[in-house]
Amino acid sequence: MPELPEVETTRRGLAPHVEGRRVVAVTLRRPDLRWPIPGEVPTLLPGQRIDAVRRRAKYLLFDTAAGSALLHLGMSGSLRVLPAGTPVTTHDHVDFALEGKGRTPGRVLRFNDPRRFGCLLWQPPGETHELLRHLGPEPLAVGESDGRSAFDGDYLFALSRGRKAPVKNFLMDQRVVVGVGNIYAAEALFAAGVSPLRAAGRVSRERYALLADAVKRILAHAITRGGTTLRDFLAPDGAPGYFEQELSAYGRGGAPCPNCGRPLKQAWIGQRATVWCGHCQR
Ligand SMILES: [Zn+2]
Repeated sequence: MPELPEVETTRRGLAPHVEGRRVVAVTLRRPDLRWPIPGEVPTLLPGQRIDAVRRRAKYLLFDTAAGSALLHLGMSGSLRVLPAGTPVTTHDHVDFALEGKGRTPGRVLRFNDPRRFGCLLWQPPGETHELLRHLGPEPLAVGESDGRSAFDGDYLFALSRGRKAPVKNFLMDQRVVVGVGNIYAAEALFAAGVSPLRAAGRVSRERYALLADAVKRILAHAITRGGTTLRDFLAPDGAPGYFEQELSAYGRGGAPCPNCGRPLKQAWIGQRATVWCGHCQR
């Protein structure tokens, strides 16, 4: 599943090829993805210039004067910028045909999604879509800043007081902070030396500062990695931005801890496999 780093990598890859271009036509090859595609997309978008491609959590926003197309890649979605006239293949559900510019010919921004958990929705100008309204702050000041609380240790500390849920669940709650998926939560908790099982309300301010820093560092690193897969402005094909061999905890249950060499523990928290070192993480 594309995580925040892959979505941000997609945004960075697309932006130079899409921003400033006018949408000349919208082709919907089916009426719905995860949800029905609202009528505004085919009626309001054609003729509009895409002023910016922004990201909020794992949503991409294509801003125009008439409103924003709001797109989520879901489990298996990808976006590609292709030469106009590129033949359609299976699961190519949506095309935004983009005007040529100067000597560059027209292009098509194409959304492919085999499993159709992605969505394409519409946000009128000056409004915030329902899906974006209750999201926590961005962990990184990249792509989008939401103007709400800064994400840091003090923020996590204040929000977590009295909470009994495991700190890993707290960190993965999109109302607390967006974009910290299972991989990145496991890695950040390992880097900060915090046990994923510890109650969120029982982590100190100092340790939340370490944890917030670890989240930022790990996500930023993953975005850098993702960037290398984006040559020819192709969206990453589901390959994680973080290379497997760089992971310290995630997916390594039973393997030696990179710090102390003791075997890493594995348990299920909710529906998710969780790996940690019982010695290094308290
Ligand atoms: Zn260890």
